[in-house]
Amino acid sequence: MTDTTLTGGKPVVARFCPSPTGNPHVGMARTALFSWAFARHHGGRFVFRVEDTDASRDSEESYQLLVDVMRWLGLDWDEGVEVGGPNGPYRQSERMDVYADVARKLLDAGLAYKAYDTAEELEERREKARAEGRPSGYDGLHRDLTPEQRAAYEAEGRQPVIRFKMPEKDWTFDDLVRGPITFGAENVQDFVIVRANGHPLYTLTNPVDDALMGITHVLRGEDLLSSTPRQIALYEAFAEIGVGDGSTPRFAHLPYVLGSGNRKLSKRDPESNLLGYRDEGFLPEGLLNYLALLGWSIDAERDVFTVAEMVEAFDITRVNPNPARFDLAKCEAINGDHVRLLPTEEVERRLVPYFQAAGLFGDEVSGEQAALLAAATPLVHERMGKLTEAVEMLRFLFVDEADFTVDETDAAKQLDEKGRAVVKAAHEALGALDDWTTEAIEAALRASLVDGLGLKPRLAFGPVRVAVTGRRVSPPLFESLELLGRERSLSRLSAVL
Ligand code: GLU
Repeated sequence: MTDTTLTGGKPVVARFCPSPTGNPHVGMARTALFSWAFARHHGGRFVFRVEDTDASRDSEESYQLLVDVMRWLGLDWDEGVEVGGPNGPYRQSERMDVYADVARKLLDAGLAYKAYDTAEELEERREKARAEGRPSGYDGLHRDLTPEQRAAYEAEGRQPVIRFKMPEKDWTFDDLVRGPITFGAENVQDFVIVRANGHPLYTLTNPVDDALMGITHVLRGEDLLSSTPRQIALYEAFAEIGVGDGSTPRFAHLPYVLGSGNRKLSKRDPESNLLGYRDEGFLPEGLLNYLALLGWSIDAERDVFTVAEMVEAFDITRVNPNPARFDLAKCEAINGDHVRLLPTEEVERRLVPYFQAAGLFGDEVSGEQAALLAAATPLVHERMGKLTEAVEMLRFLFVDEADFTVDETDAAKQLDEKGRAVVKAAHEALGALDDWTTEAIEAALRASLVDGLGLKPRLAFGPVRVAVTGRRVSPPLFESLELLGRERSLSRLSAVL
């Protein structure tokens, strides 16, 4: 039966529990966002746990990046790494004794057992099962060893794994995104929860922590769907041995994210790297909005919304189970909408680190630079998809004169012989100007180039634009010249000649 309240009246506790390997990626951030929005929508708690039990793949650097990304996105957590809480520690590497304790309890209760099969023995039996068309999972051979058999294997020096004794029944659960799902008993065999070297596996550590941290709702990627029946079996076992409060969380498996060519977006795809978006000048507001659209929508008419609006409207049962496609152009367009929604002073403030990263500002921003940025930001505010585009459009104002360069392709197109003749006329007209204002500059250039040389405005102003801003895409020309100032404008025009 679908529980229409979703929460059964219990306060919601949702979680995000990534493993710190490599760079945080888009799929991960989408999972974090949905889980966070679900918790916030229901006025619940959000837990941020880090699943770092694989020392060969996990790194401290990745851990730090995860924390940075969550903070940058503004997905705050009530309990978890860095902030602590009543059920800590929140890094699995610091909880090894907890897992060992639960494994021992499962063994003592007869819910798990030691299995001594060697890798070769397992492989041989698996091959045989396959050849005979039987399921090729664990065949349960060591389920009911006698104490003598066990002693004999130990005398041989074999190190056992611990396997969970899977009750023989079908597993049905009501996924909040996908509806009822059943795994037949024949497809879920006894599985390893602790390796021969004593190392607990994800299938154990994840439900142990969810149980002890009181997680009521597990939102995660579709790739983990097949581990769900095993985890549900573990929750039922935990109820018998007193781990957690005896309940099983509800599950919601979020759709795959596809990249170009309809392939599943992989961690290694460049467009998957979340920090790349920050470095390229996406706003957290814009990126969150776009990530929300990977499986969900606020309504049919509207693509652009704030995270507060998302929290207000978020309904996990309305998430689309079909794969979502990641579309970079749309992501940029939505980001541009969010840039336009910000007040200009806020855009100015957010541009500063990007000017610093581009080497145009030092650690300290001078009063002169700040004033120029304040005057220039309104010129580009409406024209960018991401903040780094503003840096490129405004570079000509902030660059040291010795470092100013003109884009070669644009120069080849605009500053040929004809273009240089235009620049020459512009230089003369502007050199004679007393009053260096946008209006006076515009009047002088129109008189000399459009009326004087009889050129269409596009042909008249293109060469001037490339000569003084270095590129074809720039803020409006007359304003740009005013901000650049008489001396630098004239010297750049004459440099072309
Ligand atoms: N550490 C697991 C992962 O990153 C968590 C999966 C889950 O949410 O259960 O895939």
